[in-house]
Amino acid sequence: MRKSVVLFASCLVLLTSLPAAAATKNPTPISKYRYASKKAAYYNKSTSAYYRSIWTAARKAWNKSKAFKWSATKNKKSRTFTTTVSKASGIWINATGMAYNGMSFDKAGHQTGSAMYLNRSVLKKYKYNKKQRTNVAIHEMGHALGLSHNAKGSVSVMNPANRVQPLRNVDIRGVKKAYSTPVATRKALASAAKPSLSVDHIKDYSNNIYGVEGLVHDAGTIVEGTITKSVGHHQTPKNYYTTQTLKVSDKFKGAAAGTTLTFTQGGTTQMAVTDSEVLHPGEDVLVMLGKSAAGKYYVINDGQGMFLDTHTSNGHELFEHVSDHTIYTEDMLH
Ligand SMILES: [Zn+2]
Repeated sequence: MRKSVVLFASCLVLLTSLPAAAATKNPTPISKYRYASKKAAYYNKSTSAYYRSIWTAARKAWNKSKAFKWSATKNKKSRTFTTTVSKASGIWINATGMAYNGMSFDKAGHQTGSAMYLNRSVLKKYKYNKKQRTNVAIHEMGHALGLSHNAKGSVSVMNPANRVQPLRNVDIRGVKKAYSTPVATRKALASAAKPSLSVDHIKDYSNNIYGVEGLVHDAGTIVEGTITKSVGHHQTPKNYYTTQTLKVSDKFKGAAAGTTLTFTQGGTTQMAVTDSEVLHPGEDVLVMLGKSAAGKYYVINDGQGMFLDTHTSNGHELFEHVSDHTIYTEDMLH
């Protein structure tokens, strides 16, 4: 399960406990991903004039900063692209946007492709205006070119739940830093040569005990048990998700009826959950679940509600958070 962090919590892991005031003074943190130089061309796959103009406004905001130059290409085969989707299930629940780094790389480990998404359904549901949608687009372009999240509540377009922040000076400084030190980052570039997905939510949880309390609070159902069946649905046009069957041994929250229940562990239509990230039959887990409008259980917050029983024998039952490998005692999880 060691790789689960790459897909499900790449955003979360970047949420440090830096105080917001300090973080907004310092340059926005950078990820391992870089284009070979501070420019990239993207193909705009959005079909609506409205969303095409949002991506264009985001590009212009970046270009005005002179820290990075985005250009639009008519080449449909471009490995860097922007697009919009309208999705309300699986990994897209409450996700305003996503960025997929490392669609492709050159020999030095520089990224040559990334994908940037806006989720129309969530942006519409929460009534984002055009300027706010543009801020999310600027944020996704920020991930794509190599920025991580700034602190929760920070005055930065890379605020993890950004809605109102435009491109800020701290963000520009972050990009300048990233692209002015190519030699020092060569090793990091080589190790970056695998894809990573950042999912941006309306609501985010910090990577500490309060975050887990947030998960506990928001989960409608918390149960413990053993995975007895795991069915992958890795065929387009279906989402890349897995249906898990759990033999329930303990119920901590919610009214899950019966001795077994099924829930989905999600991926996206663009990216499958890799085998190492999927729960397997025989594993003992504690899961925090939500219920869709259709009455189906799913792991809340893109799989962040999954904890593996580590079976220690010192009298405490300990659980490892699949998203970030933090260990919790059972009573911290309900
Ligand atoms: Zn983000």
